[in-house]
Amino acid sequence: MKYALVTGGSRGIGRAISLKLAEAGYPIIINYLSNESKALEVKELIEKDGGTAELLPFDVADEAAVDNAISQWEQAHPEDTIEVLVNNAGIRSDNLMIFMETADWSKIINIHLNGFFYVTHRLLKKMLTSKYGRIVNVVSLSGLKGLPGQTNYSAAKAGIIGASKALAQEIARKNVTVNCVAPGFIATDMTADLDEKALKATIPMNRFGTAEEVADTVVFLASRKASYITGEVISINGGLYT
Ligand code: NAP
Repeated sequence: MKYALVTGGSRGIGRAISLKLAEAGYPIIINYLSNESKALEVKELIEKDGGTAELLPFDVADEAAVDNAISQWEQAHPEDTIEVLVNNAGIRSDNLMIFMETADWSKIINIHLNGFFYVTHRLLKKMLTSKYGRIVNVVSLSGLKGLPGQTNYSAAKAGIIGASKALAQEIARKNVTVNCVAPGFIATDMTADLDEKALKATIPMNRFGTAEEVADTVVFLASRKASYITGEVISINGGLYT
C-alpha cells in the first residue's frame, strides 16, 4: 500500500489533512507528539469511514526518534511505501525578540525547520527510488511577511520555504514535488489564545479560516492532479496582503 504520513496529525490542521487524505483513498500514518487520545480519535474517524490509519508518535525535532519510528514502521510494512509526506507539526512560542530567550528561539527552529529536515531527509531516498512522491509543507503567512512577536517562527517558516524551493529543483526530475501552503489565521488550538475579534477585522474575509479550508489545498497538492506544480507556496489567508 502507498501511505501518507501527516506530522502533527492529531489536532487542528493536521487532523483535517489526515481525514481528507483518507477520504481521497490514502492509508494514513498519524504522527503526534503526546496527545494519544486525540490521535486515536482521528484514527477511529478514518476507520469508521472505511479507511485505514495507524498512529506513529515521535518528536519531529528529535532526529534519532524520527529515524527509529520510521525504521520500525518500515520493518512492520516491508511491502508498503510512504509516498505522501505532509510536514505540519508545530507550535508557537511568541515573544518580542528583545525578551526572547535563546531556548524559545531554538525550540521553534528545531520543531519546524529541523523537523522538516529530519522527516523529509529520512523519507526522501525511497521517494526518489520509487520515482514518485509528494511533499507538502505547512508554513505560514508569518514566514512570508514576518509577524512581530514571531521572529523565531517567521524565521523557521521562511527557512522551510527556502529549503522547499531548493529541494523542489533538486528532485523534480524524479517526479517528487515539494510545495508549501501558507495559512493566515486558522481557528485551531494554536490560535485559541488570540484576540479573534480584533484580528478578523484585519482580514478581508472578516473571519478566521478553517482547518478544512487548508486541508483541501494540501490534498490537491498531494494528488496526481498537481503533477506539474513544484516549488510553489500557496497562501490560504482570506485575502490578507502578503
Ligand atoms: P495545533 O492545533 O496546535 O496542532 C499541533 C499539532 O502538532 C498537534 O498534532 C501536535 O501533537 C503536533 N506537534 C506539536 N509539536 C510536535 C512535535 N515536536 N513532534 C510531533 N508533533 C508535534 O496546531 P495547528 O494550528 O493545527 O498548526 C498546524 C501547523 O499549521 C503548524 O505547523 C502551524 O505552524 C501551522 N500554521 C497554523 C496556523 C493557524 O492559524 N492555526 C497558521 C499558519 C500556520 P499533540 O497533539 O501530540 O500535541
